[in-house]
Amino acid sequence: MHNVPDLSTPESTYECLGCGTIVTADTHPVECDDCGGSMRDRAMSLE
Ligand SMILES: [Zn+2]
Repeated sequence: MHNVPDLSTPESTYECLGCGTIVTADTHPVECDDCGGSMRDRAMSLE
């Protein structure tokens, strides 16, 4: 089996509620690497 990069990789952008750091990951970060604050999924905040 080959781990072929998939263009449809479900990466999402997350924003720290504490310091505003933006990170892109395929899983929801538990906390901010910089300040330990809560991360929110930016895609979920769109109205
Ligand atoms: Zn932070």
